[in-house]
Amino acid sequence: MLKHLLESTKDELVVHHISMRTLEDHWMAEDEAAVKIIEYLRAIRYFDYSMSVIDIGRVRSWLDWELLGFMGALQAREYQCDTIAVGRKKDGKTFATSPKIFGAQHEFMQGMSESLARTNLFLMKGNVVARWDYPLWDWSSRRVVEYLGPELRALTISCRRPTRTESGWQPCGQCNQCKMYAELEAQ
Ligand SMILES: [Zn+2]
Repeated sequence: MLKHLLESTKDELVVHHISMRTLEDHWMAEDEAAVKIIEYLRAIRYFDYSMSVIDIGRVRSWLDWELLGFMGALQAREYQCDTIAVGRKKDGKTFATSPKIFGAQHEFMQGMSESLARTNLFLMKGNVVARWDYPLWDWSSRRVVEYLGPELRALTISCRRPTRTESGWQPCGQCNQCKMYAELEAQ
């Protein structure tokens, strides 16, 4: 999403990475990947970047979106942004692969994370004027992979259970994310 916003808009972008530390360890790989990706994308044009940490211990990760939405809204207030852009897609695999829990409730969950963020800020006497935007909402996973290109793709990590090796983080090849990308690359 960031590459897309950098290339297709002239908007002033405030980029915030949230290191969401849950019972899975993939946040370590994501934090390291974020550093490389930011450096790579700043070559397109400069943007502000910051990060924060949420350690939710052993809470199941379906709370992620509520917390991320809230943190996004906090940042937007801090920097007086008029838009909060979320890189979420309509066919987001996280939800598609958990049909028992989420199924058709995907949009409901998204609305809930926005309203929870607004409610929390209201309770904190925040004044939120930012609108929420999903620039990649209609993008297919294939389009995302093609748009990133091999160089940037190599810097990203989507595996939920990567292992650290001497040559960097290796994807497990077994989790839903790994399977999805293997399918895409095989096409
Ligand atoms: Zn994996």
